[in-house]
Amino acid sequence: MENKRDIRTLTLEELQDIFIALGEKPFRGKQLYEWLWKKGLRSFDEMTNLGKDLRNYLDTHFVINHISVDDMQRSTDGTIKNAVKLHDGKVVESVLIPTDKRITACISSQVGCSLDCTFCATARLKRMRNLNPDEIFDQVVTIKQQAEQFYGRPLTNIVFMGMGEPLLNYNNVLKAIEKITSPDGLGMSPKRITVSTVGLEKMIRKLADDGVTFRLAVSLHAAIDETRDQLMSVNLKNPLNELLASLQYWYAKTKSRVTFEYVVWRGINDDERHIDALVAFCKKVPSKVNIIEYNPIDDGPYQQADPAIVEWYREKLEAAGIKAMVRRSRGKDIDAACGQLANKNEVALTT
Ligand code: SAH
Repeated sequence: MENKRDIRTLTLEELQDIFIALGEKPFRGKQLYEWLWKKGLRSFDEMTNLGKDLRNYLDTHFVINHISVDDMQRSTDGTIKNAVKLHDGKVVESVLIPTDKRITACISSQVGCSLDCTFCATARLKRMRNLNPDEIFDQVVTIKQQAEQFYGRPLTNIVFMGMGEPLLNYNNVLKAIEKITSPDGLGMSPKRITVSTVGLEKMIRKLADDGVTFRLAVSLHAAIDETRDQLMSVNLKNPLNELLASLQYWYAKTKSRVTFEYVVWRGINDDERHIDALVAFCKKVPSKVNIIEYNPIDDGPYQQADPAIVEWYREKLEAAGIKAMVRRSRGKDIDAACGQLANKNEVALTT
């Protein structure tokens, strides 16, 4: 049992090789691949176009490791939060966010997080491990099914804004996106996928070099180094001028506008100096800004700024020709909003 190999770690070519070795036609590999990645099946027995003997062979030598939804909570605003159990018992969270026009899946890329942004609940959990491509993929499949089951609508967008820093799990995130976008997989448009990062400049350059076609978002929160240093210690090693240079490089290569995520906190960045710094920063690289509401976490010292200041930010950005949206949080009553994912119901992980 224990040494059966997880079939979803194999490439299409490797799947074809299994069948060739058995004296079967290579197209069987493609059939198997599609059951795994297009239909998201979790047992060989359901793969009806493969004969019984082949299915038995696969079952004897391989497993399909998969996630399971341990707990599902529904918010009064329709948001659904899943506590997702991985095959080794660890838990991550992923969220379905419905709006009039879209259904968005917010998914996790790591168990916990190694960064220590002072305002984020996920940062309280230490990073335990990276998610595998199939664990990332399965979160999308789960939410796709829930979208159909609970809303009768298709999943339209995916954001890597759950737990973890996607660019610190670079290869697995890209492999998962490959499966999500490929016509042999879920066939979703990369334009509807957004990867959000704290702003690791080397990895942003790598994304650009690798020619990715999904969208990029950066959690900025301050365009003044001394403020950002305090909020996000990652800024000490990735200061704003380097971040900016990497984003200019990204834009030059991809022609894709970056989205900045920005929270306005009372007494931290709620003044004209910070507004002007953000406007100046945004003018240097094609970008837009999502001003997100602060979601209080248990004992944090931070408070949401006065709405008038948020409006002041929006007006000044718009006046400079920079698109800015103020985003209200969703799923706050079930701790499903940005920065609130902390496996609150999972005692084993937090103690
Ligand atoms: N590590 C990546 C992916 C996580 S995205 C990144 O930081 O971009 C989660 C988003 O929620 C980030 O923009 C983060 O800055 C923001 N966030 C974290 N804590 C928050 C809180 N308490 N209230 C509102 N937004 C928060």
